[in-house]
Amino acid sequence: MNLVVMKFGGTSVEDPAAIGRTAAIVAGRVALGKQPVVVVSAMAKVTDQLLRAAAAAAQGDRVGALAISSRLRSRHRDTAVALVKNSADIDELIAFVDQKFDSLDEVLRGLSAILELTPRISDLIVSYGERISSRIVAAAFRELGIDAVHMDARDIVITDSQFQKAIPQNALIEKRAQEKLLPLTAVGKVPVMGGFIASNEAGITTTLGRGGSDFTGALIGGALSVEAIEIWTDVDGIMTTDPRICPDALRVKVISFEEAAELAYFGAKVLHPATILPAVKKNIPVLVLNSRNAACEGTRITSLAPHCKSPFKSIAVKKKLSIIDVVASRMLMTHGYLSEIFAIFDKHQCPVDMVSTSEVSVSLTVDSNEKLPAIAADLSKLADVKYEGKKALVCLVGEDIRGKNGMAAQVFSAIRHINVRMISQGASEINMSFMIDEDDADEAVRSLHATFFKDPDPAIFDVEARKPLTASSF
Ligand code: ADP
Ligand code: ASP
Ligand code: MG
Repeated sequence: MNLVVMKFGGTSVEDPAAIGRTAAIVAGRVALGKQPVVVVSAMAKVTDQLLRAAAAAAQGDRVGALAISSRLRSRHRDTAVALVKNSADIDELIAFVDQKFDSLDEVLRGLSAILELTPRISDLIVSYGERISSRIVAAAFRELGIDAVHMDARDIVITDSQFQKAIPQNALIEKRAQEKLLPLTAVGKVPVMGGFIASNEAGITTTLGRGGSDFTGALIGGALSVEAIEIWTDVDGIMTTDPRICPDALRVKVISFEEAAELAYFGAKVLHPATILPAVKKNIPVLVLNSRNAACEGTRITSLAPHCKSPFKSIAVKKKLSIIDVVASRMLMTHGYLSEIFAIFDKHQCPVDMVSTSEVSVSLTVDSNEKLPAIAADLSKLADVKYEGKKALVCLVGEDIRGKNGMAAQVFSAIRHINVRMISQGASEINMSFMIDEDDADEAVRSLHATFFKDPDPAIFDVEARKPLTASSF
């Protein structure tokens, strides 16, 4: 069996040149005898712009919303025209793009009259990004000699009805993926579908949450028991930290599922946190690769990672968090206290990242969101409540910290100039995390990176890529 899932993110399909590179990568796999199933995101930044159009319409700014849609229509039309030269194909593609933008405009006009943006309408609006990008990519692939067939992901990826963060129905996805995709791959065709978008059993459009195209790739990979899931993005792989914060971050050559899951959960945007699960279940290797540098071998995520001399593999940072302090002397030692607190977060469907308790107080961290005042109002019936935004969680991950003494001392010594609000160690054996002010986050990451990746293990990290300083660097 030679099936592989190849998922390409927004930057890998952002313009005609990027789509051309993506086509060459897929053609290369086909030439090697592989049977790819291709999953693509919306073109870079399109999801953000669709959300902006939705927000404008919901505030009654019909003209503003339609102007965003009009710019997106031109961008997609221009991309299609640059890529597809065959006249029958381009006419059909432009008609498709126009028809989709016409219906998007209808939705935006309706929204600007109703003035209420529900999660369901939001999912419908953002779905246009992947619905249109996947169709353009499939047409471009055919033009470039790949026998591509466009598939609507919403006929395959079936979820529950939790709009904006829908839960996949694995048994149905497996059945549909096998029924709809295998007959195509078996005859050498390359299915191309949008990531992120899905539908409930009634056929209503849902989405898997921001960054969810990775998850689609993994779900399809799991459903078809493929030999590898490839996540193609704009960096060389999983790096020792976000290269936007630390330009001398190194590529991690190999990392375990457990480490990658922890990093993704704690903010390493390179991978959606849910991506790992379908792969772990079937022990399918996941590769993170760079569509701008296809020759680079990327990062391989496997069930067992080799021993590493450096304690940590990577540092993740999650920003835009809030910290909530709940102080209740009258609850001292009362059982059931924590469960009452958590019941309130549960009621507001607000996940908690980190918890720390003392005899009389509990501090919790959550994504900053508009529900916080309502949560705080409910909590204040139990205790005194304070909350503060603009916090960041920094998380160091590595299986090789297991059983090592003195790690906390080294970590906190590296950031002794920074005020730490909360610390968590031990909940998972492979991570150490702490909460600081968002404004200190980049500096903390750079200090930790300089400390822990001074002498990286060449078996695990791509040390060759670290450029030696030359006279011209100064
Ligand atoms: P895509 O659109 O391909 O899904 P994303 O923007 O979602 O790409 O993810 C890639 C980005 O993740 C990189 O450009 C990088 O800035 C960021 N990133 C954060 N942490 C890491 C890390 N540890 N390794 C690599 N990239 C990271
Ligand atoms: N287009 C979606 C987003 O921007 C999904 C993805 O790119 O993975 O969140
Ligand atoms: Mg992504």
